[in-house]
Amino acid sequence: MSLSHYTRNILNIKDENITFEEDCLEIKKIKDKSIKVFHGKLSYTPEVCPNCGCLYESNPETIIKYGFKKNCKIKTTRVGNFDTILLLDKQRFLCKYCNSTFTATTDFVDSHKQISNDTRNSVILDLMDKIPEKYISKKNNISSSSTNKILDSISKDNLIKNNGKLPEIMGIDEFKATKDTISKMAFIIVDQTNKNIFDINNSRLSTDIEKYFKRYPKNERDKVKFITLDLYKPYYKLMHSLFKNAILIPDRFHIVIQARNALDKTRIKLCYKSNPNYTKLKKYWKLILKDKRELNKTKKKYQKCFKKNMTQEEIVTYLINTNNELYETYQIYQSILYSIDTKNKGIFLSIINGKNKKVSKYMKKAIRTFKDMEKYIVNAFDYEYSNGIVEGINNVIKQVKHSACGYRKFSHMKARIMLIKGLLNPIKS
Ligand SMILES: [Zn+2]
Repeated sequence: MSLSHYTRNILNIKDENITFEEDCLEIKKIKDKSIKVFHGKLSYTPEVCPNCGCLYESNPETIIKYGFKKNCKIKTTRVGNFDTILLLDKQRFLCKYCNSTFTATTDFVDSHKQISNDTRNSVILDLMDKIPEKYISKKNNISSSSTNKILDSISKDNLIKNNGKLPEIMGIDEFKATKDTISKMAFIIVDQTNKNIFDINNSRLSTDIEKYFKRYPKNERDKVKFITLDLYKPYYKLMHSLFKNAILIPDRFHIVIQARNALDKTRIKLCYKSNPNYTKLKKYWKLILKDKRELNKTKKKYQKCFKKNMTQEEIVTYLINTNNELYETYQIYQSILYSIDTKNKGIFLSIINGKNKKVSKYMKKAIRTFKDMEKYIVNAFDYEYSNGIVEGINNVIKQVKHSACGYRKFSHMKARIMLIKGLLNPIKS
């Protein structure tokens, strides 16, 4: 094996036009860090002048070697746990036909770039894992701005996804994103069939969502069968106008959340200092919101506030009986939980169509919302689909945001999410 062959192997270079001579390796100290510096040469006989298209073969005298572009610095993957740099002398050529010069190229590194394609691929592979970018930069021996540049280059958006096809069963939701998103919330579209992200848009405003979906032709939009979404009313009108055949299904989880928030606000209203049960109502908020079927009814534990042993059920029974409005609101909340959990549409409808005079104003408001959206809410009972997958994906997004200590640029965050979820694979083969 020749020295060149051997060195290429070490550096993972496949291009045989890159050669090495003896003494090609030097260990340099930069800022107290030892760095391996390889010195190589890139040269070959060109096939064609990139400027005028003149072929070398037909006239070998026309294109001549014309010195070197020396010491082009390329950061490459680490060798033996040392940061490694390749200083490459690139052959220059002169085309006598058009009197222009050009430099030799290699697939080891793109022209005008300082990072080898190998390193770039290694960075992209790391970006597919849930690890902080700071760590990725360090591991690959590049600056964080270089990592950002790689993210930039792969976050160029493909406007139309999936050959212009939309998911038949779609979930939509919004999440708090980066500061450069419009209205600070991003809009996420999930393909419920393959349980993955379809796309993320940097605005959740109706006009922007409309613009987004209208890029898909009407006959494609007409193929969408189901859309799961939260209880945000403006979305319903919009989705109806965009997807005339789709059945809109409010997410069961969001229905519960509305009722849950109403009960919690009812409790908080009672948490004023002069209320003798102030500390207890403040302390046991979680138990009050819990599904009463899941409360422990047998195991007694010492409760400091009560100065005695009590079960969870006894605590809740005591607390809701301290106030009539809280009691009534609690019962309605528990019935809603039960009806949704058991998919009992009858119970739910009898609740929202009942009198409910004694419940708190917060629960009255929640029930008004339910009544207002009754024709959609029944779909949540009639169909299995819900936004559970979307919620799960939102959790992944939260982890991504957390591991990168927050993103300033929406495009970077999006690219990272798409990489981690396996929806983007920009690695050159
Ligand atoms: Zn030429």
